[in-house]
Amino acid sequence: MKTASVKAFHRALDQWYRQHGRHDLPWRNTADPYHVYVSEIMLQQTQVKTVLARFYHPFLEQFPTLQALADAPQEAVMKQWEGLGYYSRARNLHAAAKAAAPALPASYEALMALPGIGKNTAHAVLAFGFHQPYAVMEANVKRIMHRLFAVETATTAELFEKAGSLLNRDEPFHYNQAMMDLGAMVCLPKRPLCHECPAQPICMGRAAPESYPAAAPKKPTPVRRKRVVVLRDARGHYYLTPRTSRFLGGLYGFIELEEDATSCHFNGQDYRLDAMQPLGNITQIYSHFRLDAFVYLATLDVGMNSGDWHPPEAMAKLPLSGAELKILRLLPLPCDARALQR
Ligand code: SF4
Repeated sequence: MKTASVKAFHRALDQWYRQHGRHDLPWRNTADPYHVYVSEIMLQQTQVKTVLARFYHPFLEQFPTLQALADAPQEAVMKQWEGLGYYSRARNLHAAAKAAAPALPASYEALMALPGIGKNTAHAVLAFGFHQPYAVMEANVKRIMHRLFAVETATTAELFEKAGSLLNRDEPFHYNQAMMDLGAMVCLPKRPLCHECPAQPICMGRAAPESYPAAAPKKPTPVRRKRVVVLRDARGHYYLTPRTSRFLGGLYGFIELEEDATSCHFNGQDYRLDAMQPLGNITQIYSHFRLDAFVYLATLDVGMNSGDWHPPEAMAKLPLSGAELKILRLLPLPCDARALQR
């Protein structure tokens, strides 16, 4: 693309952004790279309005600095992340804080060496947190690149190269924010508003924008069918243990069994599922599968003393996944503990 056309595009984009951009987003009004980093991780899989309404501010109130996050116990970080999903993000955020505190590094190589930071997050932290000339490539910008260069399919590396060739190196902060807003507000997935678009003069795909990128074939979502056993002891305490698996690691869970299980082995004894109280079914959608689980309640006739047994009011303070929160709603809790069945 000719330098003069790119320069004219920068001017038009800047003008459009000044008039229409979402300037009031809190992560655009901070000079703290840590706040930028938290917002980038939250926004990876979650919409702006959800992050804004429920997660960004409470997280930074509890962990206002990278050092505060590094010093916090993992359980507190997971609890604060509860409901946001994709929990490996929280574990990595915490691990990166421990590795980098008291401050994030301002170099691409050092950021990429931290857990959970990929190329796009590193570029975003450098562009928004340190005003360095790196191109950001989130989903909206990817779509714009496909259309501007009229490519149906491209690798992420190719898209980064194209984005780098268009980057306004003098104004990386505003340029990247403007590109993201352009994707969110003008270059929409369906029926893009090309007549309002500052990129129209250089856009090679504007005659048939919806052809770019080519639609990915839809794969059916796999279903995992499980049985969940909730154990309650004679005192009314529930058995919940922290998961150590990569998936949902750090969050507490009840006992999960395969669909064909007929009994639950616990503490040297077998408890038959058909002798337990059936509580009902829950469904939880994850990024790569759907969980369908039938939930049973078994009441033991003794009181248990280990730290894995929790009174109802203490369960609400543990970090729980969406599935466990749904299971809580099925439990026959005493009236004074119903508030946790939110
Ligand atoms: Fe997207 Fe149309 Fe603008 Fe091209 S001209 S970038 S297709 S909105």
